Amino acid sequence: MGIKRNRIVVKVGTSTLTNELGKSNLRTMEKLAMVLSDIQNMGNEVILVSSGAIAVGVNKLRLKEKPTEMRMKQAAAAVGQCENMFLYDKFFGYYDKTVAQILLNADDIREEIKKENLANTFEALLEQGIIPIVNENDSVSYHEIETEEKLFGDNDMLSAVVAVLCQADKLVILSDIDGFYNKDPRLYKDAELISRIDEIDEATYQLAGGAGSRRGTGGMRTKLQAADIATRQGIDVIVTNGKSPEVLYDIAGGKKTGTLFKGR
Ligand code: ADP
Repeated sequence: MGIKRNRIVVKVGTSTLTNELGKSNLRTMEKLAMVLSDIQNMGNEVILVSSGAIAVGVNKLRLKEKPTEMRMKQAAAAVGQCENMFLYDKFFGYYDKTVAQILLNADDIREEIKKENLANTFEALLEQGIIPIVNENDSVSYHEIETEEKLFGDNDMLSAVVAVLCQADKLVILSDIDGFYNKDPRLYKDAELISRIDEIDEATYQLAGGAGSRRGTGGMRTKLQAADIATRQGIDVIVTNGKSPEVLYDIAGGKKTGTLFKGR
């Protein structure tokens, strides 16, 4: 596969984009926009995969808790997606960048003709110096948000699919934790960070605990699945902490941070 050098896909999760109260984490979003704009100025092509639509929508609708009904989840996603894009448009706009929204379902990539069109759309946007911001089309795709794990976990997978589709050089998954550990650090104080993984096998999956943070995804499992898909296509995958988006400078510069899943 012809990998495009200096093309980076960055995935940011709900736990990074929202605070403990479930409201938008403006500081992180603004910093992320600044760093990504800067990295683009340094000659990289940048694609952002961003979740958080449902959590932000729940907040904006002033619902007391996350809805269980599908119609309300999908309604919250529609409201939250709009709010997220409004914030991104504003923050990236400070740095004179144009963003574009791409909402995707798994089906869009399964059909060859749709896949080709989508790849062309990404190319056209990147050629124009635009930063595509991708999310699952939660208001339409009932299957994607059917289960708790899928509801929040799938953007990890989506980011890998986008990285493969766009022939990215690197996929960076920003999480609420410094990387992949030999056991869940929330449960075990003596957990150690693994700085590099060359092969993802059953033993690796055993190290990933269950569901992650309250607002976050299904934990490390979906990140391992994503890393597996992307590394198979030769893409390096880095899992690291999103609380200081400045780590992206190190990553773009080839410095070690978090956990590197080496592309094969
Ligand atoms: P995000 O919203 O950023 O995608 P998640 O909450 O889904 O974040 O995933 C990260 C969480 O996965 C961590 O906070 C941690 O509790 C959990 N986890 C389980 N096993 C591991 C592991 N082996 N290494 C690191 N984190 C792990």
